[in-house]
Amino acid sequence: MSEGFRRTAYKRRDEPQEAAADKDPTRCGAYGCKCRATINNAGTGWLCFAHAFAPADRWQHITQGLHGHDWLLMLVQDVRKMDAANQDWRGFAAKFWEEADTFCQPQAFENAQPYADRMLLELLHRIGERKQRPEPRGPAPVKPSGRFAQRQPVEA
Ligand SMILES: [Zn+2]
Repeated sequence: MSEGFRRTAYKRRDEPQEAAADKDPTRCGAYGCKCRATINNAGTGWLCFAHAFAPADRWQHITQGLHGHDWLLMLVQDVRKMDAANQDWRGFAAKFWEEADTFCQPQAFENAQPYADRMLLELLHRIGERKQRPEPRGPAPVKPSGRFAQRQPVEA
């Protein structure tokens, strides 16, 4: 009985280490995830946007969801590349969603970076890891600083 327990414990400890040996360091540390690691939370190492903020018991479900939505990850990748190359990412993404889901089309006020972020949150929403469907976000409003009004007159 204790033998069985030990074998299970050994296996659980060993699996992530085996995976880590031939793992690309730029990739997410969650087992089986091919996404780029962009977030390093304390204690968990480098993870992707989807795994970084989820409890470990959701990781396997998330990994499967990411695999099932690689087409959406590719869209995000294409949008970023096209934006960097000054290509018409907006027209491309609008066409991409035209018949599937017009809510996911980019809005006129939406820039490439917030749009790409929205599509990643959309993915999390689609796999059930995010309750609220993400809304399009416009550029942050620029507020007047008021510094000029507070500036003291220069004394002679
Ligand atoms: Zn990941």
